[in-house]
Amino acid sequence: MKVYFVGAGPGDPELLTVKADRLLRESRIIVYAGSLVNTEILSLLPEGAEKHDSANLDLQEIKALFLEAKERDIDLVRLHSGDPSIYGAIREQMNELDQLGINYDVIPGVSSFQAAAAALRTELTAPEFAQTIILTRTSGRTPMPEEQDLSILAQTHSTLCIFLSTHKLSEVAATLSAHYGADCPVALVYKASWPDQTIIKGTLADIATKVSESGIKKTAMIIVGPALSRDIPASKLYDPAFSHEYRVGK
Ligand code: SAH
Repeated sequence: MKVYFVGAGPGDPELLTVKADRLLRESRIIVYAGSLVNTEILSLLPEGAEKHDSANLDLQEIKALFLEAKERDIDLVRLHSGDPSIYGAIREQMNELDQLGINYDVIPGVSSFQAAAAALRTELTAPEFAQTIILTRTSGRTPMPEEQDLSILAQTHSTLCIFLSTHKLSEVAATLSAHYGADCPVALVYKASWPDQTIIKGTLADIATKVSESGIKKTAMIIVGPALSRDIPASKLYDPAFSHEYRVGK
């Protein structure tokens, strides 16, 4: 018997991995993150599969489900939005499983920052401007370590993918303006890959107003940085002057 931590991807069921799709089709007990997982994905489950929305469960209740699955010798799928390794709170569940002596595997998923980049049809890196992507968030109930404050990360001028922070967008934009300039491109992607996906593009100067007018408050990815601009020099990768050897090595 095993527990599978499965990445559900950003929403669109076609963005599930083949492995996630198979595990879901075979699953008899599933614990899923109801707030972010597209319920369409649950229609892949076999008839009669037991479904538990983790939004209604605390860690001890999830542990009880793990234990029950062990006693019944049935695999359990623990479905997380996007990729389970990013703000997935899987560590504490794995610690419980270790204590219970239950084996587990992780199946990666397409993260929402990737789905947002795809929705924007953008590259997140840009030669000479951004060779680093930072996945971060602002503090909520979970405090941020001081040295990872947005104003410090901003000094790197990297491309920032900011999770869990739509409600703080005006604060975020103000902090970043000092480092990226008020005219730096920003995009907010609400429910990337869902049928009601919405894209709002702007600059650090006007994005907060635009988003506030849209009424969007959550389930959105904020992407900031010059990489969002199409108007930067092309990568040397396709430069005919570059040798093939370099191209292969990237
Ligand atoms: N593990 C998930 C992130 C969970 S944290 C992942 O890899 O994507 C939840 C945050 O992820 C949300 O507040 C939002 O910022 C982002 N998010 C999740 N799904 C999203 C989607 N479909 N579109 C845009 N942002 C999304």
